Amino acid sequence: MSDQILVIDAGTTSTRAMLFGRDGAVAATAQAEITQHFPHPGWVEHDAQEIWQATLDCVRKVLGDHGADRVAAIGITNQRETVVAWDRETLEPLARAIVWQDRRTAQACTQLRDAGHEADVHRQTGLLLDPYFSATKMRWLLDHVPEVRDAAYTGRLAFGTIESWLVAKLSGGDHISDASNASRTLLLPLGGAGFSTDLCDLFGVPFEALPRVVDTHGMLAETAPDLLGRAIPICGLVGDQQAATIGQGCLSEGETKATYGTGAFILANHGSDIPHSEHRLLSTVLTQVEGKRTYAIEGSVFVAGSLIQWLRDSLGLITDAAETEALARSIETSGEVVIVPALAGLGAPHWRAEARGVITGLSFASGKAQIVRAALESMAYQTHDLATAYANDGAKWECLRIDGGMSANDWLAQDIADILNLPVERPQFVETTALGAAVAAATGIGWFDDLKSASEAMRGEVDRFEPQMDEAVRSERLARWAKALAAA
Ligand code: ADP
Repeated sequence: MSDQILVIDAGTTSTRAMLFGRDGAVAATAQAEITQHFPHPGWVEHDAQEIWQATLDCVRKVLGDHGADRVAAIGITNQRETVVAWDRETLEPLARAIVWQDRRTAQACTQLRDAGHEADVHRQTGLLLDPYFSATKMRWLLDHVPEVRDAAYTGRLAFGTIESWLVAKLSGGDHISDASNASRTLLLPLGGAGFSTDLCDLFGVPFEALPRVVDTHGMLAETAPDLLGRAIPICGLVGDQQAATIGQGCLSEGETKATYGTGAFILANHGSDIPHSEHRLLSTVLTQVEGKRTYAIEGSVFVAGSLIQWLRDSLGLITDAAETEALARSIETSGEVVIVPALAGLGAPHWRAEARGVITGLSFASGKAQIVRAALESMAYQTHDLATAYANDGAKWECLRIDGGMSANDWLAQDIADILNLPVERPQFVETTALGAAVAAATGIGWFDDLKSASEAMRGEVDRFEPQMDEAVRSERLARWAKALAAA
C-alpha cells in the first residue's frame, strides 16, 4: 500500500529525507551535513554532487527494507536562490554551486542599481537588486568559469536552483523549476508564466539555459525507474520559506508565519493578487497550481538566533541557547538595556547594510541577565517593525504563527505576542518546512482536494500565546527601541 510521502528537505547546512503519513506523522528521518566552502571572504559555495549524493543516501536510508513500495509521492523543499550549473547531457556539475549567502556579486548589483534598474526589477519580480538572488550568480559563473561558458556555446548548459538540480538527477534529466523557487531568481515576472527574455537580457543570462517553470504541486516529474526500484511521481516542489508558510497552514489571505532560525523569515499570504510593497518588502510566489498563483509578502531579519550564538561563542555569557529563557525570567525587566542586533547590517524593512550593532542603556545594574534578556527582546522589536511595514502596505497581521529553533523559547514567544499585541501560535510539530513539502505532495498526488484540506489533516496541534502586557509598558519599550535604532 502506498500510504507515505517521501520528503526531501535540502537545506543550507544539511539535507534530510523524511517519511510522512496521511495524518502528518513522521515514520522515519535521515540527515546528512553539507560541507560549506568559503574560498574568499564573502563567498559561500556548495558541491552540488555532494548535495545529490548525500540526499540520495538519506533517501535510501529512510526507505530501508521496504524500499519505495509504500511511497505514493515525493515532495522537495530546498534552500532557495542557490545556483547550480550542470551539463544537461552528462548531468555533471560544471562548477561549485554559489550559495544564497554569497556576496561576490555585490558590485554587479550596485552597477545595475546605479544604472536605474531597481524600480523596474522590483515592479516585475518583487525583488530588490541584491546578491542574495540568483541571476547575478548565474552571470558570474558565465564570466568566470570556462566550463560554464563552453557549455553555453554548445547548448549543453543547464542552470537551476537546488530543487531543479535534484529533479534533474532523480528523473534522469528533466529540467524544471517550480514557480516558488523561480520567483527568487530575478528572472521571473510575478505575473508571467515563465522566465522573461527581457530580464535574461538585463542580467546577461541565456534563456535557453533556464528550466521550464512548473506548478508547486501536481504531477511534476517522475524518478528514473532504476533509481529507487520503481518510478515514483514527484508531486511537490516548494522553496523552504514558502514550504514553511504552507506547513503553518497560512493558506488564506493575511495569514502570516515567522521562522526564527539563524535569521528570521516572515511571510504573509497575499492571496491571488500580486503584492506591490511601498516599504521595501519582497513579493514572492507562494504556490502555483494549474498555472494559477498565490503570492506572499516576505520580510527577512538578518540576525535572530545568530545573536544568541554570538552571546554564547563570542561573549561567553551562556553555554547553551536554551539558558536564555531562565535568564530572561530571572529578572523583572532588562532595565534600560536595548540591543540593536545589526551585526550584519539591518534587513527589512530598514535595508541598511552599513548599520552596525549597538547596546544602549548600560549601567552598573546591567549584568548577564539584562544583556541576554535584551537580546531576546530585540526579536520582538524587529518583528514589530516588520508588522508596521506590512500594515503600511495594507497587509495587517491578525495573529502570528511562529517556528524555527528559537521559537522553542516560551518567554520569547510570549514577548513577541506582548510587543505585537497579537496572539502568537506555535505548532507542536515544529518541522514546518518539511511538513509543507509533504502537504504539497499529498495534494499534488490527489490525496486531498487542495492545500487547505491537506494542511488541516496533517498539521496537528498548536500552542497559543495571548498578549497580556500593560499598554504603558509596551509603548515605553517600543520608544526605547526606536531611540536605540536611531543610534545603530
Ligand atoms: P537554522 O535552520 O537557521 O539553522 P534553527 O531553526 O535550527 O536554525 O535555529 C537555531 C537557532 O536558534 C540558533 O541560532 C540558536 O542559537 C537558536 N536557539 C535554539 N534554541 C533556542 C532557545 N531555547 N532560545 C533562544 N534561541 C534558541
